[in-house]
Parts: sequence; structure tokens; C-alpha cells
Amino acid sequence: KKWVYLFKEGNANMKELLGGKGANLAEMTNIGLPVPGGFTVTTEACTEYYNQDKKLSDEIVGQINEYMSILEKECEKEFGNADNPLLVSVRSGAKFSMPGMMDTILNLGLNDETVAGIAKATDNERFAFDSYRRFIQMFGDVVQEIGKEKFDHVLEAAKEKNGYKDDTELTADDLKEIVVAYKKIVKDETGEDFPLDPKEQLLMAIEAVFRSWNNNRAISYRNMNDIPHDIGTAVNVQSMVYGNMGNDCGTGVAFTRNPATGQKKLFGEFLINAQGEDVVAGIRTPKDINELQDIMPEVFKQFHETAELLEKHYKDMQDIEFTIEKSKLFMLQTRTGKRTAAAAICAAVEMVEEGLITKEEAILRLDPIALDQLLHPTFEAAALSAAELLATGLPASPGAATGKIYFTAEAVCTAVANGEETLLVRKETSPEDIEGMYAANGILTARGGMTSHAAVVARGMGKCCVAGCESIKVDEAAKQFTVGNQIFKEGDYISLNGSTGSVYKGGIKTVTPELSGHFGQIMAWSDEFRTLKVRTNADTPKDASVAVRFGAEGIGLCRTEHMFFDEHRLPSVRRMILSESKEQREKALAEILPMQKEDFIGIYKAMEGRPVTVRLLDPPLHEFLPKETKDIEALAADMGFDVEDMITIIQGLEEFNPMLGHRGCRLAITYPEIAEMQTRAIMEAAIEVKEKDGFNVIPEIMIPLIGINEELTYLEKVVRNTAELIKTEKKSDIEYLVGTMMEIPRATLIADQIAETAEFFSFGTNDLTQMTYGFSRDDAGKFITDYKDKGILPNDPFQSIDVEGVGKLVEMGVTLGRKTKPDLKIGVCGEHGGDPKSIFFFHSVGLSYVSCSPFRVPIARLAAAQAAL
Ligand code: PEP
Ligand code: MG
Repeated sequence: KKWVYLFKEGNANMKELLGGKGANLAEMTNIGLPVPGGFTVTTEACTEYYNQDKKLSDEIVGQINEYMSILEKECEKEFGNADNPLLVSVRSGAKFSMPGMMDTILNLGLNDETVAGIAKATDNERFAFDSYRRFIQMFGDVVQEIGKEKFDHVLEAAKEKNGYKDDTELTADDLKEIVVAYKKIVKDETGEDFPLDPKEQLLMAIEAVFRSWNNNRAISYRNMNDIPHDIGTAVNVQSMVYGNMGNDCGTGVAFTRNPATGQKKLFGEFLINAQGEDVVAGIRTPKDINELQDIMPEVFKQFHETAELLEKHYKDMQDIEFTIEKSKLFMLQTRTGKRTAAAAICAAVEMVEEGLITKEEAILRLDPIALDQLLHPTFEAAALSAAELLATGLPASPGAATGKIYFTAEAVCTAVANGEETLLVRKETSPEDIEGMYAANGILTARGGMTSHAAVVARGMGKCCVAGCESIKVDEAAKQFTVGNQIFKEGDYISLNGSTGSVYKGGIKTVTPELSGHFGQIMAWSDEFRTLKVRTNADTPKDASVAVRFGAEGIGLCRTEHMFFDEHRLPSVRRMILSESKEQREKALAEILPMQKEDFIGIYKAMEGRPVTVRLLDPPLHEFLPKETKDIEALAADMGFDVEDMITIIQGLEEFNPMLGHRGCRLAITYPEIAEMQTRAIMEAAIEVKEKDGFNVIPEIMIPLIGINEELTYLEKVVRNTAELIKTEKKSDIEYLVGTMMEIPRATLIADQIAETAEFFSFGTNDLTQMTYGFSRDDAGKFITDYKDKGILPNDPFQSIDVEGVGKLVEMGVTLGRKTKPDLKIGVCGEHGGDPKSIFFFHSVGLSYVSCSPFRVPIARLAAAQAAL
């Protein structure tokens, strides 16, 4: 079996076998770039090493030695030859880049004899001994696992003795003494002499790199980045070149385009007379790469051309490491450059314009989730790096926010009126908080999951929200919260990152990105390719207009209960819920009707004739009931009840399990007059907008939480009878549809029956997930993190659809529904509608559209295009 490949035997497609670095070194070698010679020991050899109980087999050792001889001939130098020594670097390189996680050894091949050869060849004894002492230290640390500090002590002592400040002041003679002392450390620590045979050094180093695959930081890096543990790393053995042999030498790193903006101009830095690690260590301040033009014009020209060639060759922005040895350029690494979302978009569009890539390639290489960076404020990088992390909750709604904390919506509104920047901090949010949520820069809650009230409402507003942050203890009465032993009082500054769930102490400066023309171009291309339609979940004309601006093609879910989360309306809603008689309820409903109608008119106008799905009331009742005594007293007075009676009524409505209680269609079955009022508002508004504004509105009336076919057939009649009545009243021939949510598992199982009546389906994957797992949406935040940490769940099923379980129900619902009605329109309006991974799944099962919060519309458009490609 072939375990070792010369660089010229490989290519860029062999990442699995040669690792990313090895494959790219091979590719660069084969396109004729100046790459120092070398070979790669494969990832399979790494696996074999572990299979053989951490031993290199004779066959592998044989091949390493054989390739070493080939390398010697190629370089016209010899391993261990005192007159003309070959020195090599030994570096790890797995299939997936794991920067800094595994080990590297430089200058391998140095010993008491070759060090003299290097001194002679470079005419620089100091350089030779400095390399030697660095090699012993690196080897001792990485291969022999002797703590680095032991070596550092010796170095520091030598500097102190001579009164030096910098390492560079050490003379050749000082360094010779240090080498002796270093070797003694090795002997004392391992009981053996430092290995002087280069071949022995090489094998030991290769084994050490294989071992470093399983060091703790590499293992955690793989866990964090979903990299499998069983693929192993390759090892690259490459002849050394030196950037630190004088002023005609140097080293640097450069991107072919600006990784922050995407601008097409070399971006990077270099140092004269330095080694790669000096650039990274930040001891000296590097110069802008473009200044190399003045210092070494020839080398710069060659580098510039090479960078362009590499970008053309890989058809993507490259991140390149190079070294200049005695005015000669060497390429040490190239890889795809990491970039910000703005840079990714700019580069992708410009590369299409340059003819480098196709539109399809441009679409496919963008990360939809990263678009969030462009749509929401972010923290200024420098300010963020100085910030102290306090706690982490769920990343409920993206963006960055900073402000003074307040514990009630009222306090937030007052502070905002006084021109303050605020954050609303609550144990959990309820409908009364809506105005405070609107006014605040961001929201922090101690309880609740990704689909809790706070999360859903915040996403709808495009407002930063961290939810379910269990480690903060909120005391609303005392107007403070505590984390560990720190106390934060009303008016103190904190900052939130809703994209990561991080909560920081103090204020952090935020920046609001601007949408570029490139962004619009990517969206336009996405629309050419996608087959899934993208709608939005919106409950207000404002949200609806934002969504239209982001490209929404309709409303997939208008949650009518959200329209009542308003302090002026809440009393009527409460009266409606708490009414003891039909008359009383109808009176309350009559108050609500004009408000609802106004809402719908605003929304229809904002949508300019695009389809609008309005869902009948689905309030988990507990969200609407007054809790505080003063509210209960006010309501009692208002409704002419005794306070005692009022409390009894409220208690009578209290449920053990409100999410599984009297909500959704169940409410309308008990009180059909609610469905009648809402249908009236929906229809009258549509007729009015059609007549006055000329938009051809076709309302889609949606009945929530159906699990039994008869629930739907009963309510469909209520809705249709009302709608027809209004058409007659208004002498209108307006069209409308009646459909249903698919959000109870049972509904998906009898979808064929339901499709007899329903004119469309919309999957409510929030409830469907809640009920399929039996996880409460509002409480799951408490344990989901533990589930993820312990590997029980790969991710939060409320965030990304569980394809094998919940997905199976969705698929069944689609198949059964379309068995009855082959062209049944089917969408999804749960939070998964804006999640790229879930969108791939919804595309694959043939949904007609996804519906998501306004700020996720661009993400969904891009993801839907990727799914179609
Ligand atoms: C759902 O359950 O997925 C849904 C969209 O409805 P809601 O979140 O309002 O329960
Ligand atoms: Mg639901």
C-alpha cells in the first residue's frame, strides 16, 4: 500500500488522503509554483498508526525513508550531511483545517554536526545555533513532551546574566551554551540523550504529529466544528526555507481579496528578516503587503502574479503564506480565505462578473445564516474583544444590542422617551410586554425556549433577543438581576448578542451594516433558481412592509392573537375571554372587530395584493390573563364583577397544561362567535381594500390546531357561512380560501381526510415538534443544552427540523394531503421556515412555500436557491 506521496504525486482533490495542506501543496507544485520540495504521509498512515497500537509499521517506515532519499536528490542536499545538510519542517494537516490545534516541528535534521554546515552555508553562526536551540526546544516540547517552560527558564536566565532585553541580543556563543543546557534538560527529563540521528528525529516527529491528532484541544475543536474523530491527520515533510537569514529575506501572509469587505486588492502583511511565527507572535509590527513593492519590486511582482494565478486556479479567494529566502519567493501554503458575510457576497458577485465562477457557484458558496450579519447590527470588533462575558442563553433572535437594563415594559418606555438606550430584562415575557419589547434595543429573558413568546415576537420585530438564560436570576420586584455574585440594577449597562446567546457586562459599541448592491444581486440570482416560494410571518403592517422590502412573496402566517398584545386592546380581549355570557362576549367582540379590520386593511395594503394567510385566534389563554392584583381589580371594575368572582373566573380558566389546553380551534368550537367576528374582519377588510385600493386580495383563512377532521369541518362551516353572508351583504364576488394548520401529529396522520375540506395546509412545526417530542416549547430551554452537551440531541429540534421524526410526519402529511388533492398548496410557518437546513428538507418533500420572520426572508431565499441547485 502507498502510504507516502511526493508533492508532485498529489492534487487538490486528494484532501481526504493528503489533508488540506498536503493536497494544496501538491496542487501548487503541479501548477509550477515555487514550493519547497517535500512529501506527505497520508491520513491512512495515521489511522494505521492507531490501529497498530501507536506504532509505525515497517512498511510505512520503509516508505518514509525511501521518499526522504528522493527528497535529498531533488534538493541536492543530504539529511545529516555536515557539509550540505537538508533540514525539514514536519507539519500536521487534516482534511478539515484545524488551525493551531496540532503540532509542528521546524528545523528537523539539525545536530552537532549539521549545525556547523548550516553556519557555513549561511555564513551566519548565530543563525545556525539559534535555529538549533529552537529545534531542541520544539522537539523537546512536542515530541518528548517536556514542558516548554523548562527551556524558557534557561533562555531567560542567559538573558538576565548578560543584561539583555531581547532574544536578538544573544550572541552565537551564548546560544552555544544554551544548546548544551537544553540538551541537558532533555537528558534529565527523558533519561536519554537528545536524538542526533536525523532519521530517528524524523520518525519520532511524525509519530508525535499523529499523536497530536488526539490531544485535548484537537478533540474539543473537532467536537465544536462537527469534524469526525476517526479520519486522522496527514503529515507534511518539507525542506526548510528561511525568511530570517538577512534583509533580503522575509515572510508573510496575504489574502487575494480583502476578507472584511471583499475588495479586489491584495490584503495582508509581511516582515523582513523574520520567520512565520514572528508574524503571528506580534513581537514586531508587520508592514502592509503592498509595501513589499517598494522594498523588493521583483519579488512583489512575482507574488502578485502568483496570487492571481492561485485565485484563478481555485476560483476562490485564497489565504496564502509565503517566505522569501535570499530574494527568492517560496509558497508555503494556500487555502480558501475565511471572510465576513459582506466580503463573501462582494467577492462572489465580482467573481461572476469577472467570469471566474458561474452564478450557481456564487449562490452555492454563500452561507445563508451569515446573511444575518448584514441585516442586523453587530458589535464593533475591538469593543467586543475587551468585553466581559457574563452568561450565555439561547440565541433567540439575532443581532447585537446594548443599553441600560429595565425590568418592566413601562420602565423601558419611559426611559426611551427620555432618550435612553434600553434593554428589557424579564423572567419571561408576556403580552403586556409588547410595547417595551418594541421600544427596547434588545430583550433578555431567564426562561423560555427558541419558540417562546419572547423569541417569536422578537424575531418578528427583527429585534435582538437572548432567551432562556438560566444562569441569571431576575428579581423584577427588586429591579435587579444577579449572575453568580454580581448584581445588576436598573439603569446598569449590559450588552446582548442574539446570534450567539452571549450576555456581556457593560455597553459595547454596535455598528449597523448597510445593504450593498451586491446583496441585491445575490437575491436576484437566488430568485432565478429557487422553486420554493418565500413568505413571511407578519402581524403588523410595519412587519409586512419590512418583509416585502426583503422580498417576501406573501404572508404565510398572520397570528391574530399577536394583534392583541397591546395595552389598549388587552382589556377587550380579556373581557372576551372572561365573559360569562354570549351577550357579554359579543359586546367585547364588537369592540375588537373594528380594530381587527383596521389591522387587516393595513396588512393587505402593505402586501399590495400578495397572498395573505390569516390564522384564527390561537392564544394559549394563560398568556392573556391578568396576573397582578391591580390588573385584576381594574378588570373586575370594568366588567362589573366582584373582585372575588373575577378571581374565581380566572382560576376556573387556569390550566395545568395551557399549551395542550383550551387553545386554537378548540376555543372557536366553544365560542364560534370569535371565529365569526374574525372572519368578518378578514372579509370586510379584503373587500374594502379591493374596492378602494384596487388590490386583488384573496384572503386565506387558516384554522389552527386541528387534530380531528370534524374540528375542521365544523369550523369551516362557521367560516364559510360568515364569509358568504358578508359577500352578500357587500355584494362582492371576492374569492377566499379556507385551510388549516398541520401542527398536531394526529392531523398529519389523517391528512387525506383533512384535505377533503382544507384548501391549503400550513405546517406549524413549532407545535408539531413540541407534541412529537413531548417537549414543552416554553420549558425545553432548560434541558436542551444538556441534551446537546451529552450528545443525546445533535441540535435543538425547535431550531432545525428533526428530519427523521417530525420530518417523517411532515412528509406523510404532504403525501396523504396530495393523494386527496394533487395540487394542494402546502407551506410551513413554524420557525423552521427560516432555517437553511430545514429549508433543504422542505424543498425535498415538495412544499410550495416556507414562511418566516421578515428578517429571515433573504436567508430563506438564498437557502431555497441552494436547495434547488
Ligand atoms: C407553529 O406551531 O409552528 C406555529 C406556527 O404556530 P404558533 O407558533 O403560533 O403556535
Ligand atoms: Mg402552533
